[in-house]
Amino acid sequence: MSITPALLPSLLQSLADVIAANAETVTALDQAIGDGDHVYNLQRGINALLPQGEALAQLDWAAVWQKIGFCLMSTVGGAAGSLYGTLFISMGKAVQGRTITLASFADIFAQGVEAVKHRGKADIGEKTLLDVFIPVANSLQQAATQSVALAEVLNTLAQVAAAGMESTRDMLATKGRASFLGERSRGHIDAGAKTAQLMIAAIIGVLAKQSTTPA
Ligand code: ADP
Ligand code: MG
Repeated sequence: MSITPALLPSLLQSLADVIAANAETVTALDQAIGDGDHVYNLQRGINALLPQGEALAQLDWAAVWQKIGFCLMSTVGGAAGSLYGTLFISMGKAVQGRTITLASFADIFAQGVEAVKHRGKADIGEKTLLDVFIPVANSLQQAATQSVALAEVLNTLAQVAAAGMESTRDMLATKGRASFLGERSRGHIDAGAKTAQLMIAAIIGVLAKQSTTPA
């Protein structure tokens, strides 16, 4: 399987679909410990990207991720806008001059996640989307050192993302709006962790389907 920007139209559509299908659940989570706008913020970004899918498919990953990052920075409001913008802009820088392999992608994604940590001044265990991204980045880097079939790598990543999302339920929020609630933030899954997990699962779904399609 080759993972090229030709996949972008289906990747973007899968993100739009998964956020739409889970909009009520995620909004309820963000209403519980945030301000309830997280789905709306993400959908502004996805809706801005969807019509660009075919054009993005003609570019290389460096240009694609840079464009996606700038688009998200300017269209998605809230904390999520600058964090996702940072993720993609950093990945766009990190991929320059490299081809995509599991090992190179693991490094590129890890660099993106490091930039998000820096931007949000946050780390694992603070009840944010980083509780999904950091374990996924670690799992990718671990997979890159082993010779495991892609299907198995994807399966593990999906489980790691789900476990990371679930782990936010009992955490105390120390970053973002939920931190204003102190102890009352416990007992709710973080909305940003939930959408990160949903979007990662959707991407994995597209890649898994692709990997079983004969070239
Ligand atoms: P806002 O909180 O500004 O309304 P959103 O509702 O779009 O923005 O996004 C909220 C999500 O952003 C949270 O659920 C959390 O996952 C994530 N988040 C907030 N602050 C930070 C931070 N400093 N670092 C990492 N993620 C954060
Ligand atoms: Mg919000």
